[in-house]
Amino acid sequence: MIILVINAGSSSVKFTLFRMEDEAELASGIVGRIGLAGTRLNYKNFKGGNLGKEVFVADAVEAVGIIAGVLTDDRYGVIDGEKDITAVGHRVVHGGEKITDSVIIEDSVKEIIKKCSTLAPLHNPHNFKGIEASERHFPGALQVAVFDTAFHATIPEHAFLYGLPYRLYHQDRIRRYGFHGISHKHVSGEAARFLDMPLDALKLITCHLGNGCSITAVEGGKSIDTSMGFTPLEGLMMGSRCGDLDPAIVLFLMEHKQLGYKEINELLNKQSGLLGVADIGSSDLRDILSAKASGNHQAGIAVKTFTYRIKKYIGAYIAAMGGVDAIVFTAGIGENSPIIRESVCDGLQRTNGLKIILDPEKNKAGNNKLGEIQSCLSRVKILVVPTNEAREIAQQTLQLLQPLEKNGMT
Ligand code: ADP
Repeated sequence: MIILVINAGSSSVKFTLFRMEDEAELASGIVGRIGLAGTRLNYKNFKGGNLGKEVFVADAVEAVGIIAGVLTDDRYGVIDGEKDITAVGHRVVHGGEKITDSVIIEDSVKEIIKKCSTLAPLHNPHNFKGIEASERHFPGALQVAVFDTAFHATIPEHAFLYGLPYRLYHQDRIRRYGFHGISHKHVSGEAARFLDMPLDALKLITCHLGNGCSITAVEGGKSIDTSMGFTPLEGLMMGSRCGDLDPAIVLFLMEHKQLGYKEINELLNKQSGLLGVADIGSSDLRDILSAKASGNHQAGIAVKTFTYRIKKYIGAYIAAMGGVDAIVFTAGIGENSPIIRESVCDGLQRTNGLKIILDPEKNKAGNNKLGEIQSCLSRVKILVVPTNEAREIAQQTLQLLQPLEKNGMT
């Protein structure tokens, strides 16, 4: 069975084609800079074929047309025709409160995705366009939506409520939703397999550290709390997002700096975080680490603030779960930066009784592959687990298809 995974964003459509019998990645790529000058298709297939070329597409519908074309192309293609694709799994950021799992896309689901656009205006409208485009170009395939919020549907009310008047939750659904759920779920499963332990017996803290950063307490395979909230702005400090903030700062900026909605939105989402604190003109951690290495004080303090916040959340989630069996690092920074992992864990070795102790050599050698990096004296496992959201979407899509297949409905 062949499943195509589509992640349609504001200016790009990413795709991966899986053969599910052995979960082999047959092809993958991106149509990037959609709607801008220099729109490009970058593509590779499992036979070693690589293609990079300028394409002329105006929107996601045309981008998915390009994807359908290259997958079936005589020279670069890996399938005979679009009908070889049984299902398309779409990443959708927000499913609100009603959707708590992956679903086959029907009209009612589309309505919910559209409605949730007010909660995720930067993502849901584009995810929706990807679905419509895929219905057009792969009409014979079942369309499935896999949500970033769904994994966090298990967070209990006391953890998802804010200390605001209850009516704001009741009427306006202002609450913690949490994001990056596809990744947190994926690495939790991978960690349990690696540890050879049932997921439902484990207390995990998963740290997804990329451009966007979030951290989740996963107890018995279920998210019980996570750092991103009503929007992906809350929680950890990120590449260019501020994370946790005293909300009165916003009031101050309005009253004393005369900043309006647009400026404050830009400030908090695009000019803050590592970018804003380090102030070296880059949000890329590699640039900030090299500025720190050459003695730039602000770059140094940006890194310290970043890791200190992660450590505080680890402490909070140990308290929330009454312990922890493993701390998991994932995504661009979590998988690739020994310095950040070391700085996060520094001081945790003194945590009473728990003993969270990193092994410096294993940490240095532990990049970009599934493995453990704790010292033999550590009671808590510390893992690097590469995330793979496309694979997780394909797996969840397959799980939805299996009962249909048994009934001969695919
Ligand atoms: P996104 O959230 O956009 O998917 P990624 O998961 O790709 O982001 O992570 C991007 C971040 O990972 C950037 O801050 C980048 O600097 C960081 N990163 C990637 N490789 C390294 C590395 N070798 N060392 C330190 N940071 C890295």
